[in-house]
Amino acid sequence: MVKAAVMRAFNEPLSIEEVELKAPREDEVLVKVTAAGVCHSDLSVIEGKIPVPPPAVLGHEGAGIVEEVGSAVKNLAPGDHVLLAWVQNCGKCHYCKSGKNHLCPTGFEMAMTGADNVFEKDGVGIGKMAGVGCFAEKTVVRETAAIKIRDDIPLDRACLVGCGVMTGVGAAINTVKIEPGQTVAVFGCGGVGLNVIQGAALTGATTIIAVDLLDSKLEQAKVFGATHTINGKNVDATQAIREATGGLGVDYAFEVIGVPAVITQAFNSVKRGGSAVVVGVPGFDQQVTVPGMSLPLEEKSLIGSLYGSANLERDMPRMIDLYMNHRLKIDELISRTIKLDDINAAFDAMKAGEVNRSVIVY
Ligand SMILES: [Zn+2]
Ligand SMILES: [Zn+2]
Repeated sequence: MVKAAVMRAFNEPLSIEEVELKAPREDEVLVKVTAAGVCHSDLSVIEGKIPVPPPAVLGHEGAGIVEEVGSAVKNLAPGDHVLLAWVQNCGKCHYCKSGKNHLCPTGFEMAMTGADNVFEKDGVGIGKMAGVGCFAEKTVVRETAAIKIRDDIPLDRACLVGCGVMTGVGAAINTVKIEPGQTVAVFGCGGVGLNVIQGAALTGATTIIAVDLLDSKLEQAKVFGATHTINGKNVDATQAIREATGGLGVDYAFEVIGVPAVITQAFNSVKRGGSAVVVGVPGFDQQVTVPGMSLPLEEKSLIGSLYGSANLERDMPRMIDLYMNHRLKIDELISRTIKLDDINAAFDAMKAGEVNRSVIVY
């Protein structure tokens, strides 16, 4: 039996309960979870915006230590420190073979359905979010969802690379290639947005404009490398971005909230030839509108970014190295360290905009 936070119904507090965990199948590993970040996507699942049906163990940003491996697992052994990845890959499909394993449909299906009942209670299977389910003391994941990392980084720091850091930094360094001297705007300065900002700073972008509705988040944005801040409550952000860039607009505008109207705003903030990059996830029934003429006549583009367009086995250890070499901030992302029992309060703090990240330490 392991203690887990289970979503029993949408829009209700998670239920902290003891559940059974099955032994790993041949291509799976059992991971003792040591730390897990509470990410906005967990809240989106609770709110029914990302379709994972209850009952399910949530949590998709975690780190831990391998305890047991299935008979066909070749690359991991008990004792290995790992990050949990919310897109696992099959290694065989068109996308995996062409080096884009983060787009593997097998992994995506797992992420969106939660179907894979490694957890169970009273004979009823319980799904796990994104194939991870790390709001539990232990979980069982596919081998490809456990990425081995060096063991000298504290796991309560490393866990944030599992979602927020990889998604945000990767959007800036993988999805697009920001060049030194270019200009960037970031709409939304939550846990992922701050990582887009520090990713842009790594590339040498000279102007990094943070946009949010909360001054407290804008203060955090400066810590991560924002050179300008705009509170969208007080001014028209698109106009203010143009003013800050000599009337041009930015080379890249990142939307890290998932609100269609803000995506439109981000698109309208980029200069001719520039790109708006959508990192935030709109609701599955929402449409995004942009001025169509700007696509060809201004050569502007609207592109998406999933999981930092990362090759996870290459890029997650790279993020850890950057942190260990003081080139990437992770400590500053962690506002609170909590126990699993406090998870519902962590969602309240998130909704109130009080935290960058709460991290559960088991
Ligand atoms: Zn996440
Ligand atoms: Zn695949």
